[in-house]
Amino acid sequence: MSVSQFATELKIPASALLEQLRQAGVDKKSEGDSLTEQDKARLLDYLRRQHGETAGKTKITLTRRQTTEIKATNSSGQARTVQVEVRKKRVLVKRDPADILAEEAAQAAGVSEVSPPAEEDRTPLREPEPVVEAIAPEPVVVELAPEPEVVPEPEPPLEIMPEAVAVAEPEVAESAPAAEVEAAEPAPAVERPMSAREREAKRHAELLAIQARELKEKQEREVRMRHEMEARLAKAQAEAEAKAKAEEDAKAAAAKAPAGTLHKPAKADDKGAAKTAKPAAAPAKGKPGTNWKDDAAKRRQIKTRGDAGTGGWRAGPKGRHHRDHDQAQAAPAEAVVREVLVPETISVADLAHKMSIKATEVIKALMKLGQMVTINQVLDQETAMILVEEMGHVAKPAKLDDPEAFLGEADDAHKDVELLPRAPVVTVMGHVDHGKTSLLDYIRRARVAAGEAGGITQHIGAYHVDTPRGMITFLDTPGHEAFTAMRARGAKATDIVILVVAADDGVMPQTREAIHHAKAANVPIVVAINKIDKPEANPDRVKQELVAEGVVPEEYGGDSPFIPVSAKKGTGIDDLLENVLLQAEVLELKAPKDAPARGLVIEARLDKGKGPVASVLVQQGTLKRGDILLCGQVFGRVRAMLDESGKAVSEAGPSIPVEIQGLSDVPAAGDEALALADERKAREIALFRQGKFRDVKLAKQQAAKLESMFEQMGEGEVKVLPLIIKADVQGSQEALVQSLTKLSTSEVRVQVIHAAVGAISETDVNLAQASKAVVIGFNVRADVGARKLAENFGVDLRYYTIIYEAVDEVKAALSGMLAPEKREHVLGTVEIRQVFRISKVGTVAGCMVTSGMVKRSASARLLRNNVVIWTGELDSLKRFKDDVKEVKESYECGLSLRGFNEIEEGDQLEIFEIQEVARKLA
Ligand code: GDP
Repeated sequence: MSVSQFATELKIPASALLEQLRQAGVDKKSEGDSLTEQDKARLLDYLRRQHGETAGKTKITLTRRQTTEIKATNSSGQARTVQVEVRKKRVLVKRDPADILAEEAAQAAGVSEVSPPAEEDRTPLREPEPVVEAIAPEPVVVELAPEPEVVPEPEPPLEIMPEAVAVAEPEVAESAPAAEVEAAEPAPAVERPMSAREREAKRHAELLAIQARELKEKQEREVRMRHEMEARLAKAQAEAEAKAKAEEDAKAAAAKAPAGTLHKPAKADDKGAAKTAKPAAAPAKGKPGTNWKDDAAKRRQIKTRGDAGTGGWRAGPKGRHHRDHDQAQAAPAEAVVREVLVPETISVADLAHKMSIKATEVIKALMKLGQMVTINQVLDQETAMILVEEMGHVAKPAKLDDPEAFLGEADDAHKDVELLPRAPVVTVMGHVDHGKTSLLDYIRRARVAAGEAGGITQHIGAYHVDTPRGMITFLDTPGHEAFTAMRARGAKATDIVILVVAADDGVMPQTREAIHHAKAANVPIVVAINKIDKPEANPDRVKQELVAEGVVPEEYGGDSPFIPVSAKKGTGIDDLLENVLLQAEVLELKAPKDAPARGLVIEARLDKGKGPVASVLVQQGTLKRGDILLCGQVFGRVRAMLDESGKAVSEAGPSIPVEIQGLSDVPAAGDEALALADERKAREIALFRQGKFRDVKLAKQQAAKLESMFEQMGEGEVKVLPLIIKADVQGSQEALVQSLTKLSTSEVRVQVIHAAVGAISETDVNLAQASKAVVIGFNVRADVGARKLAENFGVDLRYYTIIYEAVDEVKAALSGMLAPEKREHVLGTVEIRQVFRISKVGTVAGCMVTSGMVKRSASARLLRNNVVIWTGELDSLKRFKDDVKEVKESYECGLSLRGFNEIEEGDQLEIFEIQEVARKLA
C-alpha cells in the first residue's frame, strides 16, 4: 500500500500523513512510497503516545459476555469441562488516524477462536503485558476460565477481567493470533482476588465521572441557551426596526411579489426585493446567532420537541441572507447535501418538499425519533432542524422572528386609547348545597329575562346584569375549581368573589377552600349569608365562623361586606349586588373600549351544527363581528356573535361575554382571545403555538420548587414561601401547619395558603400552580388527575410520613440549603382486585398493575382512598404460579406484603424505590 492510498483511507491529506510518518520515525519521501505493516505499527505507536492519555479518557467501552462450556481432554487423557467466557468489547472513541490504524490491525486479527487451556495455564500467569487498547469494531476477546477445582478460587469465571486487553499488534495478530492473545490474558482471579471489587469501584468512579461531566455540560448548555435567549431578545428588537424598513423597501421594489412572508423566505424570483431588503437588514447580520455546527450533535440527542428550552436554537442569522447562496452551496459529492432553511414552523409536507424527498420519508424519520405525525402537521423549528440534520442535510434557521413578538407591537399601537370604567366580573363560590346555583339563577331570572318577555336564556358560561347602579358580569360556573383552574393557566377573569354560606350550615370544608383560593388570588370577597328565610338560620354564628377563617365583616373593621340573602325568596339580592358594585368602585376597574378586543375563553365546545363555539369574555377593547380572533392555538374570523340571551349582536365591549362562531378549532378554557388585524398573522401565531405543543405561556410560568425556593424568594421584595398542606387526619394537619408556620423568621415568611384533610386534588395542584406554592402531602397522595396535572405543570408535590422531616426540609429550603436527598421514585401503581387469605401463608392479593410497573425488590405503600395505611416491602411477586422479578403495566400479578395482611379489595399499592437525588439547581 502506498502512502497516498493509505491517506485516502484515513481521510487525511497525503502530505499530512507524510509529516506524521516522519515524526513517527518512518522516513518516507513521497506519496508514492509504499508502506509496510511495520511502518504502520510504528505510526500507530507514535500516535498512541501522542493521544494515548487523553483518548483513553474519552472512550466508552461496551462489554458483552457470554459463557459457554466446552468439553476437552487434557494431556493425561481425562475429559473435563472447561468454561469459556467470550467477551465482546466495543470501544467507541473519537476517531483519529491512530484509531483507524488500530482498527485495521484488529480486523486483520479477526475473531480468535481459542482452544482449551494447556496444562501450564493452571499456574499463575505472568504480569499482564503493557496495556494496548483494542480499538476495533468488535475485537473479540476469548477468555478461558480455569475450572473451579483446578484453581481453587471462589471467584466465578464470570468475574474475569472486564478491563482485559486484546493485543492488537498487527504482527501478533497475523502470525499467531490464538496463542498470543491467550497468553496475554492472565487469569486475574488467581493473581488478584480483590479485583472484582476494585473493578466495581473503578467502574463506579468512571460512571460518576461521566455523570458529572454530563451534568456540567448540561449546565453549560443551559447557560449558553440563556445567553442566546438574551441575545435573541436584544436582536429581535434591533431587527424589528430593520425589518420594518426592509419590508417597506421591498414592497416598493416589487409590488406584486412581496418580500416573502414571515416564514417563507422570499421566492427565488423576486431577487430585486431581496436585494433591496438586504442593506436595510444588514445590521442584524453582524451578530452571528449561534454556533450551529457545535450544537448539531447535541440537537440530535433531543428527540422530543417542545420540552427542551426553546430559545437557543432558534437564534440564527436572518434567513433571507442565506437564500442567495442557498443553491450555490449545493454539495458536489455523491449524495446531495442540501442547505435547508427551516422557518419557525413548517408543515411536514413543506419540509419534505424542501429536502426534495417524499413526505412519507419525513414521517418515517420522525417516527424513528419517536414522533407520530401527519403530513399536514406543523413542526416547530427545533424538531424540523433535528430532522433535517438526521436526514443528512444542513439545517439553517430561517428568519428569526417569533410571531408572538408581533403581539407586543400590536399592543403598543393602542396604548394611548382612553381607559373607561368597566363592569366587575364576579364568581360565586361556596360549599356544595349552600345555594350558589340558586343565587346565580335568581339573579339571572330577575335581571336578564326581565327585559325580554319569555326570553330563553342560554348558558354561555357567563352573563351580565344591569342594576340601577351599574352592570355586573357573572361567571356562570360556580365554585373554586373553575376559578383556580383558570388561574393556573395564567388567566385572571374574576374581580370579585361572592362567597355563599348557608346560614343554617355555617362554614364547611369547601367554604374554607373557597376562602383560601380567593385569598390566594387576592380577590376581594363579598359574603352572602344565604337561606336566611329558613327558621334554623343563624347568621351570627356564620359571621363568627367566618371571622375565625380570616374573613372579617366591615362592621368589625374588616373589609368584607356580609349580606344576608335568600336565593329562594330573593331577599337581600339587591343589597348584595349593590355591595358588589361598591367593592368594584374601590377597585377602580378600567379598560380601553376603542381598541382591538382582548379577552378570555371561558368555555368552548364543538357544536354539531355550528362547529367550534367559544364563549369569550371581552376584557378590553371591543370585539366586532368579522374580527380575526386568535384564541390560544386556534384562530378564525368571528362569523356570528350571540349574547347570553341568544340574541345576535354585532359587537361586545369590556366585561361582556359573548358566544362566537367561526374559529378553526375548539380552544381551551382559559385561553387568551385576541383580535388581530391580520389573518395571516393570526394563522401563523396559531400554527406556531400548535407547533410548540405546549402553551408558551405555561413554559414561562415556572412552577415553584422547594429546592429553588430560596433563589426565587431572593428575587421578590417580600420573601414568602407559600405552601399547600394536605394531611390524612386533622391532628397532623394542624401540627404541620403550626410547626411549619413557626419556621417564619423576620426575613422569610412561611405562608400556608391552604391546608385540609384528604388526598391532593386537581384543584390543589391548580392552586399551587397559580400561587407558585409547593404541595406537602402528609400520609396522603395525589389522585390520578392531580398527579398528571402536577406533572404537566411541574408542580412540586412532596410526600412525608414524619412531621419533623417535613419541617427539616422546609427549614433547609428557607435557608437555601436543601441538601441532596433521598427521594422516592415511584415505579408504578397496583390495584388490589382480589384478596385470598391462606392459613400459614397469610394474605395474598390478586392485582392489576394500573400504571408503570412493579418490582419484587421495590418498596410499597398501601393506600386506601389515597391515604397511606402501611409502608413496607413486598414479600412475593408472582405471575400465575411463577415467581417473577417484575410485572409491567396492565398485567395481572399476585403478591403479598411483608408483615402486613390487612389488604382489602380496592386498595392501591404505590410501588417505589429510594433514589438519591442531587439538589436541583435553580
Ligand atoms: P349549590 O350546590 O351551592 O349550587 O346549591 P343549590 O343552589 O343547588 O342549592 C341547594 C339547595 O338549597 C336547593 O335545594 C335549593 O333549593 C336550596 N336553597 C338555595 N338557596 C336557598 C334559600 O335561600 N333558602 C332556602 N330555604 N333554600 C335554598
